[in-house]
Amino acid sequence: MDINELDQSIFDKVEKIKSHHSPEDARMIEKAFRYALQKHGDQRRRSGEPYIVHPVETAVILDDLGLDVESIVAGLLHDCIEDTPATSQEIEKEFGASVAALVEGVTKLGKIVYSSKEEEQMEDLRKMFIAMAKDIRVIIIKLADRLHNARTFQYLPPQKQREKALETMEIYAPLAHRLGMQNVKWELEDLSLKYLDPVGYAEITKYLDERHVAYSKFLENVQATIVQRMEQAGIKCRIKARLKHVYSLYRKMYGQNLTFSEIYDICAVRVIVQELADCYNVLGIIHDIYRPVPGRFKDYISTPKPNGYQSLHTVVIGHEGIPFEVQIRTEDMDQSAEYGIAAHWKYKDGLTGKQKEEAFAWVRQLLESQQDSDAEDFIKNIKVDLFADEVFVFTPKGNVINLPQGANPIDFAYAIHSAVGNRMVGAKVNGRIVPIDYVLKSGEIVDIITSKTTNGPKRDWLKMVKTSEARNKIKQWFKKECRPENIERGKADLERELRTALLYDDFQQEEVSAAVLKRLNFPAMDDLYAAIGYGGVTVSRVVIKVKEEVTRLNRERQGSAKAPVQKPKAIGDTGVIVEGLDNCLVKFAKCCTPIPGDSIVGFITRGYGISVHRRDCPNVISGMKKEGESGRWIHTEWDYSEKHHYQTGLRIYTQTRVGILADVITVFSNAKINVNEMNARDDPATGQTVLYITASVTGRDQLEFLMGRIRRCAGVVDVRRNINETEETR
Ligand code: MN
Repeated sequence: MDINELDQSIFDKVEKIKSHHSPEDARMIEKAFRYALQKHGDQRRRSGEPYIVHPVETAVILDDLGLDVESIVAGLLHDCIEDTPATSQEIEKEFGASVAALVEGVTKLGKIVYSSKEEEQMEDLRKMFIAMAKDIRVIIIKLADRLHNARTFQYLPPQKQREKALETMEIYAPLAHRLGMQNVKWELEDLSLKYLDPVGYAEITKYLDERHVAYSKFLENVQATIVQRMEQAGIKCRIKARLKHVYSLYRKMYGQNLTFSEIYDICAVRVIVQELADCYNVLGIIHDIYRPVPGRFKDYISTPKPNGYQSLHTVVIGHEGIPFEVQIRTEDMDQSAEYGIAAHWKYKDGLTGKQKEEAFAWVRQLLESQQDSDAEDFIKNIKVDLFADEVFVFTPKGNVINLPQGANPIDFAYAIHSAVGNRMVGAKVNGRIVPIDYVLKSGEIVDIITSKTTNGPKRDWLKMVKTSEARNKIKQWFKKECRPENIERGKADLERELRTALLYDDFQQEEVSAAVLKRLNFPAMDDLYAAIGYGGVTVSRVVIKVKEEVTRLNRERQGSAKAPVQKPKAIGDTGVIVEGLDNCLVKFAKCCTPIPGDSIVGFITRGYGISVHRRDCPNVISGMKKEGESGRWIHTEWDYSEKHHYQTGLRIYTQTRVGILADVITVFSNAKINVNEMNARDDPATGQTVLYITASVTGRDQLEFLMGRIRRCAGVVDVRRNINETEETR
């Protein structure tokens, strides 16, 4: 774009903005203008105007709202990232991180796609808008951007006009209202209405145009009368008179079905005073001059509107019989009403931190603010964290789904319908396949991939989901769809836990199990198993109940003095008692070859029964630390009433000499101990021979006797129990 081709008015507007700021800030504004001018180059608006007109007009709106220099600079640059070769990095380098963050925020909001939504969807869309903005200034810049675009809607093709107008009416105008920016709201509404209902809009504007002269004359008279009476009463005030904006009349006519003659407040007069007390004095004087319409007085000073709006409203009948509305408020209230949240920036110098907090108490309700008394920080730190714990995502059709922070596609699928969740096999976010535990972010479009042949949800989804809705629906499915599997799984889970807790035998007693069922409210054992299986009741809860019932029953039995304590029996001819089991395969671990007298522990192997280890076996010490296996270790002990033979290993260190092996073997045969296996290995490092011998003994007593004898053999250096650390017998 040749700068000489640009209309002088553009430069004038930039100069005017600059004149409101310090020389330093003005230099920054000039720099941003030149930067945007260069980046947008030959781009033009649909109106045919050079593109730079749009960012400059946006900046003018922001300056009128009184926003800070960062917002104005960001307003000038707001379309650079999206539409020009400029990058966020470059903007950060040239204009600082804050400006870059604002421009990026505005760009991001521009990517949210709106289509016509159900009314209940709109509130979520607005919340998403706020949630994504992060900084309140981003929303205000976006509103200024939209306001200028709305002022130039006439250049869009008709279809686009209606789309953009609807979006403006449903998203942007309510946001402006939420932020208390009445003037922006009214202008957005009127500009949108023109395209949404051209007939209604034309009807109202025609009516107003026809009476424009009459109404203007009427309002002039009213104004003069009020001014005169205020002077007599010694009350300083400012008076504004206007016709109500088109959309508010439209709502009354089409929403409340009123005719023009039934609308009392087409004309409105505002009396702005210095002191709060004056508001009520003025009200008295107004009601003295004009006859009030009964039931139309509203005190929004003592009871402010939810967005913080404060004013007295009354409707009176003018001397010509024309009704009109009178609004009475202080300067502060007026600034807040006109500029809303933007008044923070505009009038920040006039307010102390304390006053500001009082004047904008509603902002704190709406937006989280740092409790910082410094005015500048107070403003900068108004962050949009209101919906920080929520995410707002779209269905492919554009409906908004509101989920808690951290939610994933499973939550999303169940939020749509349980049938979608139950058939889900995967998910796409913004068109790309993601893991099903992907953490969703606001603004993303989520597409659930389903399959008719899938077997329903996975059990581990229960641990992934963030919403109780999804969790309940998944549980529901397991409850309904696979009772036999649930019973089987629940039974296995419970039995395993009971064994670990050494309560399995107790639970087999009719007395205990019946009491537990009753306490947990299950009609039959299968119902309890099924509930455990689908996750309706946790195993640990059942185990606690079993424990309580066992304790209770034991106490009762002790009280009744006869205690038929069942003595646990050793399994088969192993001589080992496994707590809670009276029939299972028991093997002795080859690594540590335990014998009666050794402290032992059992390990439930996968498919081969129980492997019994010495407690001091290195495999036990490391194995018990293994995650997810702690439940496999089971209490075992020797049954000393039985006598069996057990193979165990010895390691004998000897000096290397001829005949020593025969001497050692003789000790075994003299003690009538059978040798099952024997190996010898020379150790060149020590010059010794190591004998590995497996023998069958009845227990530790016999073995220790034997070891004593071996030690006395000539040439034997040491005898130890053999432990094979590397051999994993499990
Ligand atoms: Mn723009």
